[in-house]
Amino acid sequence: MIDRFVPNQYFPSVFDISITQLKEKGITSIIIDLDNTLIGWDMDEATAELKNWFDLLHKEGFSITIVSNNSRHRVRTFADPLGISYIARAKKPLGGSFEKAASLMDAATEDTAVIGDQLLTDILGGNRRGFHTILVAPVKQSDGAATKFNRFMERKVFKAMKRKGLMEWKENEKTK
Ligand SMILES: [Mg+2]
Repeated sequence: MIDRFVPNQYFPSVFDISITQLKEKGITSIIIDLDNTLIGWDMDEATAELKNWFDLLHKEGFSITIVSNNSRHRVRTFADPLGISYIARAKKPLGGSFEKAASLMDAATEDTAVIGDQLLTDILGGNRRGFHTILVAPVKQSDGAATKFNRFMERKVFKAMKRKGLMEWKENEKTK
């Protein structure tokens, strides 16, 4: 059961995701969460670093769709200036928003990565449907948003990730 929450890859931030590796895996399309994956709750527009990152992904030929559970207004404010497609009020991990996003990009499930900061929405939703899942550490930790159950699941999943060697970067960072 815990496997459903374990991502295929784990990085400290979106900027650490290896584009070369994605290409080697045959990934052509990216479904990405907004809140705490790209920006914190207290921001509404992309930073210059994010703009460059999206430019790079586009240049490398990736299709991108933002899939967020947040409001249409919130997601549009971020996505429109960047010219990126989006699905708001997505009801992750339920509903068919990931399939819808993939079909809008004309991408097969196995060619599509789901990137997000939450195990219970992004990773569970992506794993259940067979997408390549990438967890990133939240841009901004907010204790209010994390339920006891979330924390409990996180501990279990992080243990499983450690066993699979997905947590090694963190161990290494600490010893530096
Ligand atoms: Mg999020």
